[in-house]
Amino acid sequence: MNSDTHSSKGCPLAATLSQNFSVLLLGRGGVPFSNANVSSLRNFHIALVDTSPSSASQPFVSTDVVINARARILGGGTCINAGFYTRANSEGWDERLVNDSYSWVEKQIVHRPKLAQWQGAFIDSLLDVGVSPFNGFTYDHIYGTKVGGTLVDHFGRLHSAAELLVSENPKMITVLALPRWEFTFESSSGFGQSQDSIHCHHGIMSAEIGQLSTIPPKQRTPEAIQAFIKRKRDLPHEAFKGGFILEKIARPISIGHLNLVNTNIDDNPSVTFNYFRHPRDLQRCIDGIRMAAKVIQSKYFRLHKFCKDTVITIWHYHGGCHVRKVVNSNFKVLGTNRLRIVVNGSTFSESVNPLELILRALS
Ligand SMILES: Cc1cc2nc3c(=O)[nH]c(=O)nc-3n(C[C@H](O)[C@H](O)[C@H](O)COP(=O)(O)OP(=O)(O)OC[C@H]3O[C@@H](n4cnc5c(N)ncnc54)[C@H](O)[C@@H]3O)c2cc1C
Repeated sequence: MNSDTHSSKGCPLAATLSQNFSVLLLGRGGVPFSNANVSSLRNFHIALVDTSPSSASQPFVSTDVVINARARILGGGTCINAGFYTRANSEGWDERLVNDSYSWVEKQIVHRPKLAQWQGAFIDSLLDVGVSPFNGFTYDHIYGTKVGGTLVDHFGRLHSAAELLVSENPKMITVLALPRWEFTFESSSGFGQSQDSIHCHHGIMSAEIGQLSTIPPKQRTPEAIQAFIKRKRDLPHEAFKGGFILEKIARPISIGHLNLVNTNIDDNPSVTFNYFRHPRDLQRCIDGIRMAAKVIQSKYFRLHKFCKDTVITIWHYHGGCHVRKVVNSNFKVLGTNRLRIVVNGSTFSESVNPLELILRALS
């Protein structure tokens, strides 16, 4: 018998081992299926900011104050991550065996991304500043410029490692979730596709997860179905469409440490990253930022296109009332004798920081 956790690594490993061995897959929390905050890319940020105990992600802050998140759901980090996929560096491994092992995962959950126009220009700019050769679309971990894979399909749905359990041998594997709420036991098995979700129920799950994902058959009263539909409709659908140019440092030299604080599955361990402790890591970060600055100055990087394609709000709404058309400078409503409006951001024509102006106007 082998045991592992519900993690990104645990799911494919369990699926592989279950071909020949009995496997116990242990986890805390629930399953990702039907959780719109997990399965839909546009809700990526919602899963991360949802700090409730039933969220797929659990925030933690390292002792050196780096804000982070860890998964607590079947599929682990692949349920809350940004979905970028590439193979690892196979240096020092049996290269052929390593590369052969990837393909079944890639067939099931990895996709070729659709690039936005500004991303195409970004590729040209990287080549222009010397990040070459151009390797095209590839999962290989190679030097130069490339387009990697993504766990997100063309419909914007994220495919997590939990889906790899479809390849398992169901007789050989037991999935056990250890929820923090009361236990209810549902023992079903199988993998099916419904209109808006894929269900994969194995072993034990919590009532809480059942309520969030699907309605168990015996509880499908008309009222319960209506309540379920309403809950689904009310889920937030904010789109988070900004364009990000990120820098990542490969093979850092700085080393951190992690300690378990206790044995409670809900408590975060104590983590210290020590990022940039080694001066070489810091220098590489600086070099990376300089490279990004060069890239966006390349003639191929059309800044006007980037600005238009990646615009998002930072919620500083103000100026709904036309200047001097609704109130005067004392907030008196024009055309009336004794009417002032309670001040709000709509009366400001111009503002870098509406909150500061509102507070000042009220004081
Ligand atoms: C926001 C975000 C974005 C990211 N973006 C990317 C990306 O685009 N591309 C990329 O390659 N990587 C990305 N990553 C990193 C990547 O997701 C992780 O490195 C990877 O998922 C880690 O996998 P793992 O198998 O080691 O552990 P995890 O997948 O984290 O799994 C650990 C599992 O163990 C469970 N667990 C913990 N404690 C217990 C316990 N006591 N008992 C039982 N179960 C327990 C947890 O609930 C969790 O399910 C991102 C990570 C985050 C958080």
